[in-house]
Order: sequence, then C-alpha cells, then structure tokens
Amino acid sequence: MDSARNDTKIFRGIEASSGIAIGTARMTDRSRVAVTEVSIGDDEVAQECARFQAALQDARNELLSIKEHLAARRGPEHLYVVDTHLLILEDSMLTRGTLDLIAGERINAEAALNRNLLKFKEFFAAIEDDYLRERVGDVETVVERIMRAMVGKRQECIGSIDGGKIIIVAHDLSPTDILQIDKDKVIGFITDLGGRTSHTAILARALEIPAVVGLETITGEDIDGLPMIIDGTDGTVVVNPDLQTFRDYLRRKQHYDYLEQEFLKLRDLPSETADGHRVCLMGNVEFSEEIPTLKGHGGEGVGLYRTEMLYMNRQGLPDEEEQYLAYSAIVEGMAPLPVTIRTLDVGGDKLATDLHLEDEMNPALGLRAIRLSLRKPDVFKTQLRAILRASSRGKVRIFFPMISGIEEVRAAKALLEEAKGELRAAGVPFDDGIEVGIMIEIPSAVVIADILAREVDFFSVGTNDLIQYSLAIDRTNEHLAHLYQPLHPAVLRSLRMVVDAAHTAGIHACMCGEMAGEARYLPILLGLGFDELSMTGVSIPRVKKVLRRATRADAEQLVARALAFSTAAEVEAYLSGEISARYSESFD
Ligand code: PEP
Ligand code: MG
Repeated sequence: MDSARNDTKIFRGIEASSGIAIGTARMTDRSRVAVTEVSIGDDEVAQECARFQAALQDARNELLSIKEHLAARRGPEHLYVVDTHLLILEDSMLTRGTLDLIAGERINAEAALNRNLLKFKEFFAAIEDDYLRERVGDVETVVERIMRAMVGKRQECIGSIDGGKIIIVAHDLSPTDILQIDKDKVIGFITDLGGRTSHTAILARALEIPAVVGLETITGEDIDGLPMIIDGTDGTVVVNPDLQTFRDYLRRKQHYDYLEQEFLKLRDLPSETADGHRVCLMGNVEFSEEIPTLKGHGGEGVGLYRTEMLYMNRQGLPDEEEQYLAYSAIVEGMAPLPVTIRTLDVGGDKLATDLHLEDEMNPALGLRAIRLSLRKPDVFKTQLRAILRASSRGKVRIFFPMISGIEEVRAAKALLEEAKGELRAAGVPFDDGIEVGIMIEIPSAVVIADILAREVDFFSVGTNDLIQYSLAIDRTNEHLAHLYQPLHPAVLRSLRMVVDAAHTAGIHACMCGEMAGEARYLPILLGLGFDELSMTGVSIPRVKKVLRRATRADAEQLVARALAFSTAAEVEAYLSGEISARYSESFD
C-alpha cells in the first residue's frame, strides 16, 4: 500500500440517513457512460433509432427482472420505485424526444439521449420544491440504464455483492439499488450525488441504512478496499481512520446503538408526561415503506401523509383507483391507528405539464396547494373520493394545506360534500364522519385561527412554511438559513394563538412541521399545549424520552418565560439552560 493510500482522509457530505457504519469501502461502478457526439448520415438514422429502441427494451427487461426479484424478496409494497422507472421509460418526452433528436439533428443515439437529459434537467432545476426537484435523479438513473444498454456495459447488481461489513461507494445509487441491499453484507453507502430528499435517501432512512450523499467527487478517490467509517448523522466520512479516531467512532457507534435500543424500549410506553398528560406522537410519511419503521418506533398513527409523490414522475395524473390503492396500503398498514391524509400540496411550476399551469414569478406565493386544488375541482374531487374510499379501510382524517382564509375552507369542504354525495349515490362505502382539518402555515390563518377553528375538527401547524411566511425567509435559500428561527418571538406568539384558538373551540392542536421532531423543542410545545406532534418516525423515541421526563406545569412555566423574551437568541439561550438543568439526561 503506498503512503497516500495509507493516509487518513476525512470528507464531508450531506447526512442522508443516520447511524454510524464501520467497515470496508467497496467502489461500485455507477460512473456515467462517457458520451461523445458523432454526426451521422441520412442513411444511418434508422439504424441509430433502432439501436436506441433496442436499448429501451433491454432496460425494460432489466427492470422487470429486478421487479420480480424484489417482489420475491421484499414484497409488493416496494415495487413502486421500479414502476416509476418503468413509467419514465415510457415517457414520450424521453423516447419520442430522443428519436426526434436523432433524426432532426443527425446525431448518434447516445448524444441524442444525453441532450434530451439536459432538457429534463433544465425543466427540473426550475422546480422550487426540494422533493420534486430531486426526482430528476430518477430520470438520470433510467437514462444511465439505457446508455449502458447501448454500450453493452451492465451494472453490478447491489443484491449480489458478497462479503461482510461493506460500505458501498458509488457515483449515485438508485432507489432500486437501495431496495436490493442485504443488510447482513452491506452496512452503509456513500455517493457523489444526491440530497436529503431524494428517493434514495428517503428509502435509506426508511430501511435504516446509514448513508452520506452529495460527496461530489468521492468516487475519484483511490479508496476501494480501505477501512472506512461513515457517520450518517452529521455527514462525515473517514477513510483509513487512525487508532484514536477508530476508537472514538466505535464508542460513538456503541453509544448510538445503545441509545437506539434504549429508545426502542420506550416504544410501548405511553407518550405522556411524568404527571400523566398525554401528547400523541405520530409520524410523517410519504411511502408505505416507512410504515414498519414508524410502527417500530412507537408511532401512534400518521399525522401527515404527504400525497405529492403520487403525482410526479409520470405522465398524466393518478386516477381514483390508483390513489385509493396507495392510500389504502397506508391506512391498512397503520390500522387501527389513524392516518391523516393531506390533499395535494404542489403547484406553481412544479406540475406544469400535467396540470397545464403557467410559470410563476413567485411560486411559493403562487398557485400551490389548496389554491391549485380549488382551481382544478375535478382533479381535487378525484383525490377526495379516493381518500374517502380509503376511509372505509381504517381510521382516516383529511386535511387541506396552505389555507389562508375561511372561503378556502368552505370551498374545500363543499367539494368534499360533493365527493361524498357521488360515492353515496354509487353505493360506495366511506366514513361519513371523517374528521376534517387544515394546515396552519400562513400568517393570515394564525391571525384568524379563532374564525377557522369553528369550521374544522383539527388544526395542524406546518412550521416549515409558517416560519418561511412569517419571517419572509425562503426555506430553500441556504444564504438565509441563519434567519430561519423556530424560536423567533413572532413564531412562538403565533403558536400560542393557534393552540389557544383551537382549545377555545374545543378542537385539537397538532404540529407536523420539522419543529415537532426536535426533542429540544418538546418542553416548549408541551407548555404551549399541543395535543399531537407528528415527525419522522425515528425521532419519536427521542421526543418521547423528553416528554416522559417533563411535567405539564413545568413546561407551562418555561413557555411563559420564553414568551417574555425579545429575540430568538434570548429564547435559545434560556431554553439551552433549562434543558441542561432539567432534561440533560434525555439528551445523552
Ligand atoms: C410544513 O410546512 O411545515 C409542512 C409540514 O408541510 P411541507 O413541509 O410539506 O410544506
Ligand atoms: Mg407546508
């Protein structure tokens, strides 16, 4: 081994899935096929088109065989990822678009496909929502599969990797790769590409596989076969750790694993304070894959099911039956616990092709969420009927995103009544008493929370947007991250108003924004009086641990003090002090 290969090296990426893995790096060839553009003659067009179509067929066959393998190994609920890729293969922008480029520009098939991919990237890059924007990764994965089929270079199958304690190092991994991981052999992965909200990262979290992504050039390093540590909690990767670092991480890993085990012991204990006050701890989900993790961490239901993912990466919109099946899978998976289904929360430029929307100067303030649903009542009613039908399969609650005023609530409820009428007339069963709620994430809704509370069965505060709109901070702008302050006095006062308005009207106050899953905010949220907190499944035990140490009276006093400060920094300093004094054991 030469000395450079022996050196300890530290890399920092994006923490995609928490947990520490200590093992051996295994470089997996997921590099992009290098594409050269070559001009072709008129007489070669047909041959290039045929080569492209044959590669499409090969890629389809590969995916179908992966699908068969997955169905046998993991069961039917994971197959949507492969189905998404199969649908992308059918997309006419991809297929027809590439064939047109071959014929129109007289270029080779690889170059045409590559140019077409650039168009997709431009299209996706303009999307504001992180989650939807990162779906371009699925298109890239499919394009790579076609490219490889064209040049006769097959991908190494992750499922057939042998050996123990392997940490995969790859340019990128697709969700299908993640589903094939055998956790007895592969204990983590790191990639050049990717972000926290890519399908790959979401699945890694759902399957509890530590991962660091977005390392940019890690596959350019000469690290294959070397000892490696990855920390999916803070995005650190250490290659060739020295003895001290190794011991340090081993200790941290043992501590992490110990805490996980300790936390899991809390799973079946009631989520209540030391003085017996219940706060319901629920999970935020987007996929049925997340249900086992959520239940395994003691989730008492789904507090936010984001239905957006059903609408993207596809041509056309999901029909009622498809939605009904997707919602039912989650409802039945959680039964008898409740599932709170949020109606579609996309808009602006995000679904321009399928919903025929125009580009907007200011998509965050544009035609999104409930505004879009009310503009497209047929699309909305299809979703409402599907949700209502799923309500016959377990306990379902429904809620509407981005409510700014009472007219929107009334209009949405009127359409819900129409949808109920249609099902009733057709003799289709549903829960007639389904609870209806709204998200509180716009300052106007906070200010008129008392008026809104008379019209609905529950509030759910979306702090991600509420903070964005209250403080005028674009939640995706990294330059403003320091101004994104959950403890800003304006935010705390807003939360107080919302909870008070809900309780005065006798309805529940819930929170499903990221703030709900931060254990250190629990004393504040408890003191404010939230009845329900919904968060990513793995956060539940940590929050529960603090909850079970807290008392309601103490938390109320803490909030009274916190509300008296003038700046977020003062509240922060006060909260940190209180946490060290009263809850430090819960944060070990
Ligand atoms: C929120 O805004 O806090 C929320 C939960 O919704 P989303 O993050 O999906 O906008
Ligand atoms: Mg929101």
